[in-house]
Amino acid sequence: MKTFLVLGAGTAGTMIARKLVNTLDSREWKVIVVDKDAKHYYQPGYLFVPFGMYGEKDVIQPKAKYIPTSIEFILSDIEIIEPDNNLVKLVTGRVINYDYMVVATGADIHPEETEGLLGDGWRQNIFDFYTYEGGAAMNKFFQTWKGGKLVVNVVENPIKCPVAPLEFLFLADWYFTKKGMRDKVELVYATPLSGAFTKAKASAALGDMLSRKNIIMEPDFMISEVDSSKNVIRSYDEREINYDLLVSIPTNMGAEVIGRSGMGDALNYVLTDKQSLQSQKWQNIFVLGDAANIPASKAGAVIHFQMHGAFENIMQHIKGKEMTHKFDGHSLCYIETGFDKAVLIDFSYDQEPVPGTYPLPVVGPFSLLRETTINHWGKLAFKEMYWNLMLRGIEVPLPNEYSKAGKVF
Ligand SMILES: Cc1cc2nc3c(=O)[nH]c(=O)nc-3n(C[C@H](O)[C@H](O)[C@H](O)COP(=O)(O)OP(=O)(O)OC[C@H]3O[C@@H](n4cnc5c(N)ncnc54)[C@H](O)[C@@H]3O)c2cc1C
Repeated sequence: MKTFLVLGAGTAGTMIARKLVNTLDSREWKVIVVDKDAKHYYQPGYLFVPFGMYGEKDVIQPKAKYIPTSIEFILSDIEIIEPDNNLVKLVTGRVINYDYMVVATGADIHPEETEGLLGDGWRQNIFDFYTYEGGAAMNKFFQTWKGGKLVVNVVENPIKCPVAPLEFLFLADWYFTKKGMRDKVELVYATPLSGAFTKAKASAALGDMLSRKNIIMEPDFMISEVDSSKNVIRSYDEREINYDLLVSIPTNMGAEVIGRSGMGDALNYVLTDKQSLQSQKWQNIFVLGDAANIPASKAGAVIHFQMHGAFENIMQHIKGKEMTHKFDGHSLCYIETGFDKAVLIDFSYDQEPVPGTYPLPVVGPFSLLRETTINHWGKLAFKEMYWNLMLRGIEVPLPNEYSKAGKVF
């Protein structure tokens, strides 16, 4: 028997493991999945938790529910990966020898990377919303908050879902308006970027939206420390921003085991070929989702777009054939903007977001770089699509490759 090992049973690991077990000959191959956490988190739903729109049931489900019984699912932390020896050691003492492996160990926040962030203010008047617990604690805080200066700070990039901090601000604008206290809340966005987004056209459109909604932007803000005794954040160029409530997007990093195993870059992301999604160093290892160091957004939608091609490449490689599928970096992000509206952006490695319609020319029904109610329904529908289609191996009818159809250049 040969072993196909999948590390991580989040979005990418669950999806690829199901495809593998459905395709590989079970008389020849055994598929094993390892994860340290029994719970599956629908991370795009974290955005709505601080505002009481989603609770635990929306974002947390048992992982086992989505892993077919034909897969051996092992619940354990990984101690070390030895790719030169084709083996993985678990903390339980078990050693797994593999023939092929997919690394899908994701990314997580590391607030300890910023001086003072985990100080006295943490979960008092400093919160994150990149964990369920952080969002739920902030929701509790909002129940009695009388208003003040709310500062959203991105510590450094890349982060998961790079538009999520903007969405948080747009939703905060809506939430406090609805509560009748928007005039008591000052909203500030302190970002290390020079604009609202990395790509020019989207940056201009989203920057405009920030100013229309009276959200102040502090660009090029590279945070050096949080001083929770004075409720101030400082940057390396010695700027200071005071806050009453700090919403931090801490440093995002790949799994520690990637670093421990000598497989990653400085942020523990696995060095990966951006088109084939094969490890740059080990031919029998492929890397999917947030774990890879590729220059695509770290997003569930990206995983959906890369899944088919990566799977075909793996199958071709196993059969000794040339790998023909090239991931184009296709990303699709719904940006919730409050008041039942959202903006949609569609882009790739080579093409920045532009206006137009998606997925069909003229009829859409979604509009690109424009706020619409239909886009908002698209955003909300993603949760059902995620739990009921993507994780269950049912095809989502959206083309994987970036298309110029319907776009205005
Ligand atoms: C606030 C927020 C909003 C977002 N919004 C959107 C959105 O609107 N649209 C969108 O498409 N995407 C969004 N995303 C991003 C999306 O959720 C992620 O890109 C996606 O879930 C990543 O999937 P993954 O499989 O790469 O990693 P994960 O789903 O995080 O899975 C990684 C798995 O590896 C396991 N693991 C790690 N280390 C070990 C170890 N040592 N031993 C064993 N197991 C280990 C973990 O337990 C985990 O289960 C958002 C993310 C956040 C945080």
